[in-house]
Amino acid sequence: MIPVMVPEYCKGCNICVMVCPRKVFDRGDEPSPLGYFVPVVARPEDCLNHGLRRGERLRCELCWYSCPDRAIEYEEE
Ligand code: SF4
Ligand code: SF4
Repeated sequence: MIPVMVPEYCKGCNICVMVCPRKVFDRGDEPSPLGYFVPVVARPEDCLNHGLRRGERLRCELCWYSCPDRAIEYEEE
């Protein structure tokens, strides 16, 4: 499972970029349709949940809990 941003919700605050202990995200440099710089999942293989399948217990949800706009979801690779 890896995190992905939902561009319709993300406000580009970059909290997720700062809290991730594995530095999975980079700051975005392309404005979303709403005009926010949505971070990029630059190193998904470094996420602590990389390799887990849907339904398995996640090892880390720090970015998910930290996002004030609920703009992060987990997807199976
Ligand atoms: S789940 Fe944890 S390790 Fe994975 S991207 Fe979010 S904060 Fe980083
Ligand atoms: S914490 Fe949420 S709203 Fe802020 S940049 Fe990350 S995904 Fe976007």
